[in-house]
Amino acid sequence: MEKLPDIRINRRPFIVPVFIPHAGCPHRCVFCNQSVTTGQKNPFPSENDISQTILQFLSFRRKTRPWTEISFYGGNFLGLAPERVEHLLSIASRFVEQGQADGIRFSTRPDTISSQTLARLAGYPVTTVEVGVQSMNDRVLDHTRRGHRVSHTLRAATLLKTQTTYRLGLQMMIGLPGDTFLDALETGRQIAACEPDFVRIYPTLVLKGSLLAQWFDQGIYVPLSLEAAVDLTKSLYCIFAKKNIRVIRMGLQPTAELNPEADVLAGPFHPAFGELVLAALWREALTSHFQQAGTVPGIVSIQAHSRAMSRIRGLKNANLNNLKTRFQIDRIDMITNDALFENTAIINDMPCRLTYEY
Ligand code: SF4
Repeated sequence: MEKLPDIRINRRPFIVPVFIPHAGCPHRCVFCNQSVTTGQKNPFPSENDISQTILQFLSFRRKTRPWTEISFYGGNFLGLAPERVEHLLSIASRFVEQGQADGIRFSTRPDTISSQTLARLAGYPVTTVEVGVQSMNDRVLDHTRRGHRVSHTLRAATLLKTQTTYRLGLQMMIGLPGDTFLDALETGRQIAACEPDFVRIYPTLVLKGSLLAQWFDQGIYVPLSLEAAVDLTKSLYCIFAKKNIRVIRMGLQPTAELNPEADVLAGPFHPAFGELVLAALWREALTSHFQQAGTVPGIVSIQAHSRAMSRIRGLKNANLNNLKTRFQIDRIDMITNDALFENTAIINDMPCRLTYEY
């Protein structure tokens, strides 16, 4: 059987997050409130607090995820003063030198990446850089008050790809003010053309305390529905999957810090957003499979990898119930087969694969 790219969104390092909310930010982007997202107000935690946070998270590490990266999130890392960048890197480096972690990662804005700022990282065990792209459309970037251009992102990606060996992650958002379905697809295509090692896709949410919350109250901003966000993210996932670019996160997840009921005022939030997207992909693939099969027997067996099972079933078995009704199937037996790729199922001895069409 032909082997298709194996897109496994769950294979990622053990990340030890150190939050530095809004540290290094030149201003506040309209959608952002890192104090809410990270549950932390202090942009500059003390050295002792950072070390304690790292030690606490390291105690949660499981043997199945041995690659460990200490991560500075929630701010604009390379927008910090050089001495602060070096201070944070030196704290994290100690854990790498002691063998308790394998590398350092951080997120930063595209317009902070230059040969000069990258030179500050020399000698530190940085392994991954995540860049907040958000959109590859200057009009949308203006609406969102990002304060950088698409050209900054293109230059940043080129510099990171050509002058460093860091793994490159690019983050994009959907449902931004002024964005459209087609603009977002174009953003996805342009991000894929940058050949990052991985991407994250975040639907825009109306967070308490953000400027977007005011716009939402005034009727200036209307968020995507959950259905539209899942549909668009599905198409974007296909763009990246076709290029074998891993999508490591789709949607903001509830954490101990983020309380969706209190902090998310509106927008397509779902605690298992990524699973909804993958279930929608499977629903299309399974429907197409049975349509092409013609006659469908009363009892159907589906073999799949254990990690694909819930996605094939859909939320509360919605996919299976839909298939049963649509193709008059009496019973569907689900059989775990971890020898299969996660994007391939065997339906009554016939392969059914995610094709990533959009
Ligand atoms: S999106 Fe990034 S740059 Fe903008 S305010 Fe939030 S953390 Fe700062």
